[in-house]
Amino acid sequence: MAKIIDGKKISVQIKEELKEKVAKLKRDGKEITLAVIQVGNDEASTVYVGNKKKACEYIGIHSLSYELSEETTQDKLLELIEELNQKEEVHGILVQLPLPKHIDENAVIHAISPKKDVDGFHPQNVGALSIGESGFVSCTPAGIIQLLKRSGIEIAGKHCVVIGRSNIVGKPMAMLLLRENGTVTVCHSKTKDLAKLTKQADILVAAIGKPKFITKEYIKEGAVVIDVGIHRMENKKLCGDVDYDDVIDKVSAITPVPGGVGPMTIAMLMYNCVESISL
Ligand code: NAP
Repeated sequence: MAKIIDGKKISVQIKEELKEKVAKLKRDGKEITLAVIQVGNDEASTVYVGNKKKACEYIGIHSLSYELSEETTQDKLLELIEELNQKEEVHGILVQLPLPKHIDENAVIHAISPKKDVDGFHPQNVGALSIGESGFVSCTPAGIIQLLKRSGIEIAGKHCVVIGRSNIVGKPMAMLLLRENGTVTVCHSKTKDLAKLTKQADILVAAIGKPKFITKEYIKEGAVVIDVGIHRMENKKLCGDVDYDDVIDKVSAITPVPGGVGPMTIAMLMYNCVESISL
């Protein structure tokens, strides 16, 4: 029977550990502050920002909220980021993506001080990850490593196949698996004969952005499957990039959607915030 990797439970464990750390820091007179910036009022972003603020409150991290109008210019946003970069009492800065079309996301990512870049998107942190130096790591892939480790799944020596090469999931995922001594193959939309490669995977990470794309034909018997995708179906239920019901009898372990990778992203954001006070 397949092991269901319980991301909800593991994320709670991590948050409890962080809560204790934050309480100790407070006893030593140190308080962590995260600045959260949202531009416009995209419905999904408002939910994500709300969940991040709630997690901060639970752990004991002070959050500052900046809700800017949709019409905010790029210059104004960059000015605010610079102001927060300079403020010693602010440890982390998070700009909720996506941003309105008139703002260049890359310019914003570059503007955040690498020492306050709790999302781990700044090129300096991305570079540090690829050469094995310390720095903030993108939260979703960092959370996946925690899911594997805390579920007792060995990565070293395993063939890990990552489908997707985005800057926030696929690429950092591949780097992290490599750092854990996995043998890594990265696939993308131009990959030829995808199933031939995915069927070699001991650990398969699907970060494609296409609902129920991965069926049992893509999977080796006994593989561990990590489903990063998250989609709302017509019946309002959530599903992932993997067809869970189709593959469940073939895998040795799998993350469900919801309750798998999703909760880990916020837990790892909180982890990065706690780290930020020591930089
Ligand atoms: P993305 O930027 O759209 O990247 C998707 C990747 O999949 C691209 O590299 C693309 O290849 C590849 N791809 C698309 N179609 C393919 C195909 N037919 N065969 C092989 N590869 C294919 O998405 P993302 O930001 O990485 O996110 C991926 C999924 O994870 C989305 O569903 C997103 O909502 C979800 N997500 C969840 C969390 C969470 O916390 N649970 C966090 C982040 C993202 P090319 O590069 O060639 O275009």
